[in-house]
Amino acid sequence: GGDDASKDLDALLEEVAEIARPKASEGELADYIPELREEDPDSFGLAVVDLDGTEHVVGDVDRPFAIQSVSKVFSLVLAMQKADAADGVRKELWGRVGVEPSGDPFNSLVQLEHEKGIPRNPMINAGALVVDDVLLDHCTDHHEEMQALVSELAGEEVTVDERIASSEEGTSGRNRAMAYLMQSFGNLHHPVDDVIKAYAHQCAVKMTARQLARASRFLANDGVDPATGRQILRPPLARRVNALMLTCGTYDAAGEFAFDVGIPCKSGVAGAIMGVVPDRYGVTVWSPPLDQAGNSRAGKAALHELTDRLDLSVF
Ligand code: GLN
Repeated sequence: GGDDASKDLDALLEEVAEIARPKASEGELADYIPELREEDPDSFGLAVVDLDGTEHVVGDVDRPFAIQSVSKVFSLVLAMQKADAADGVRKELWGRVGVEPSGDPFNSLVQLEHEKGIPRNPMINAGALVVDDVLLDHCTDHHEEMQALVSELAGEEVTVDERIASSEEGTSGRNRAMAYLMQSFGNLHHPVDDVIKAYAHQCAVKMTARQLARASRFLANDGVDPATGRQILRPPLARRVNALMLTCGTYDAAGEFAFDVGIPCKSGVAGAIMGVVPDRYGVTVWSPPLDQAGNSRAGKAALHELTDRLDLSVF
């Protein structure tokens, strides 16, 4: 019966955690801001939340971390909501950011020069900056709308770590360089400072693995948040977010993730990876040490084990 299956899944998560945890020692903490440098490298949490609300968890699933690049999913969702409401916004959004994997690191500037200031996709920094630029036109308050969306999806109020937000702003040289380059091509309409501020703020949203796993469930459920029944995105749009996560969400390791993990994923530099198992689960793993591509080393191992053992690959 359901209870047995539920117990089995709990036991399986323990095994997955045991295998994945030691891999953290092969990774490195992000060190560009003190708040990430000071993270405990041994933290590890894995949360699998069923569409019916059952939560299977192991480890540090209630410890908040900065969601960093995972926020790119939510800012894109917000922009797609605006775009779905107005034809002009839809054309603008997809005219200003592409949908192709980059094959370059998340903070690369190289392709921007070649592609006339149009970022390859919204899951890398340049793309997220353009999405924020679009949002600044269509949100009454970017900070507030982002926070309201993630809080709704998490099922509880989430907050922003202002210290991290200001550290991000203070170390945003590369992101500013991208923003100015895009501005020079006419693909950034707001002052660079405003766009950087919006982006730094969304990176500094603090959530737990449990909350992120809940928050990704609408993407596993044709765009409907199973907790509230609200249609966050229409089904075809929710699928497009999943497609972008799968092809671009883990940067230049997206091929490897498709190969080894096989579900749409989005990673962040604080060590979270949020995944979507269509029609079944929202998943999130958190372990701060990162591999070369900037993806959680133990997180990737955990998702590999989990999806293999449960046959969760979308392929
Ligand atoms: N704040 C980070 C940056 O802009 C986010 C990148 C990430 O999580 N990969 O560099």
